[in-house]
Amino acid sequence: VTGTVKNKHVAVFTFPYSSHPALLLTLTRKLASAAPTVVFSFFNIEKSNRVLFSGLSGCTNILRYDVSDGIPDDYVFVGKPQEDVNLFLAVAEDEFRRAVRVAEIDTGLKISCLVVDGFFWFAGDMATEMNIPWVAFWTAGACSAGPDEEIVDLIPGLESVRLGDLPSGVVMGNLESPFATMLHKMGRTLARANAVPINSFQELDPDLTKNLSSNLNKFLNIGPFNLTTKEKTSEHDEYACISWLDNQKTRTVAYICFGTVFTPPAHELVELAEALEETETSFLWSINKDSYKHFPKGFLERTSANETGKVVPWVPQDQVLNHVAIRVFVTHGGWNSVLESVGAGVPMICRPFIGDQHMNSWMVERVWEIGLRIQGGNFTKRATCRALEHVFSHSYKRIEALKDLAHKAVASNGSSSQNFKTLLEVVTGSTP
Ligand code: UDP
Repeated sequence: VTGTVKNKHVAVFTFPYSSHPALLLTLTRKLASAAPTVVFSFFNIEKSNRVLFSGLSGCTNILRYDVSDGIPDDYVFVGKPQEDVNLFLAVAEDEFRRAVRVAEIDTGLKISCLVVDGFFWFAGDMATEMNIPWVAFWTAGACSAGPDEEIVDLIPGLESVRLGDLPSGVVMGNLESPFATMLHKMGRTLARANAVPINSFQELDPDLTKNLSSNLNKFLNIGPFNLTTKEKTSEHDEYACISWLDNQKTRTVAYICFGTVFTPPAHELVELAEALEETETSFLWSINKDSYKHFPKGFLERTSANETGKVVPWVPQDQVLNHVAIRVFVTHGGWNSVLESVGAGVPMICRPFIGDQHMNSWMVERVWEIGLRIQGGNFTKRATCRALEHVFSHSYKRIEALKDLAHKAVASNGSSSQNFKTLLEVVTGSTP
């Protein structure tokens, strides 16, 4: 830690899977640059920290600490759902406690605030023991705070949501798994957190914001982050996607990506690929290299030869979505993807897999009316052709309005900027 004398020490605990760590690091960097006299110790598993911190510069008041992932040396994965998550959850609390003691000795500063992934219910007890504030960062959308055509009518602001769209483990699914237990414990303790910041903007969900604000202390919409963070680790255009898009016609390209964790089953990839060729839709598709073998015979060769398609393992998504050639985003409905699409004003075709993706997709189609869910829940050639034809022949006016509101929220006097100041007061201990 260099530069200004440091007088406060904040601990940041990440939930080390999918896009959670990157988002928590983004939040930490925003806080760290706004509070240069505070040291932020960032606790995360080694594998995730290695990726996040590679090439990272300019954050002298953020210290990296690795914690154990809970995977025994001789462990053999058997393919159970969330196997790695459950192993980690078994050691998480002890690991964070251990690492905090190390960081306190290293810096000579006691921890003065916990900023943690909203999943970590145990941070509440830790903060009470340490007599410091607890900030629980909710990394998903407000709509996922809550399996299946039955309509749930319990949550103000979520009147028309179907039980089937609530994340598995909340009211259905395996309620005994460590992951589900975590969600339940979190639900019971979140109201004790001193602040619950979220990567969203309050104008997107005014009723939900009102509801959550009356149940939580300082429920603070401080996003969308993609509109406030200029420097992004994901923005390398290794595969020259932007110059490829430059050669495409305005609003003609479907951008396809299912986030960093999920890939549709092989037969769905085939159906989606066939639908693209059938409808002669130009596309840019980000998908891991292992999946290329599942495409229909000749698909990659044909579409690259006639310049209608480009398949790559990674794209600078935010830049891609903001390119004038993009007409639609075919997505799994991950929260970051939805928010990035809203910020760019691009309608979506959603194929959700798990967790909050179902809720997000429902909101996209039914509440915000900025896209649709694939009919039947998975890609068939017929449903995909229909969805593409619908989006290409339809104008989604509300996406423009939401895009505008998102940009206003992060402007200097916008709601998210004001909320960030409130959060900073809690984190730095300067709350009046
Ligand atoms: N992303 C990207 N390029 C890719 C694939 C993904 O930049 O080729 C980024 C995307 O912009 C988003 C994140 O990875 O910020 C995925 O987050 P999301 O919440 O949508 O899905 P998850 O990976 O958590 O399922």
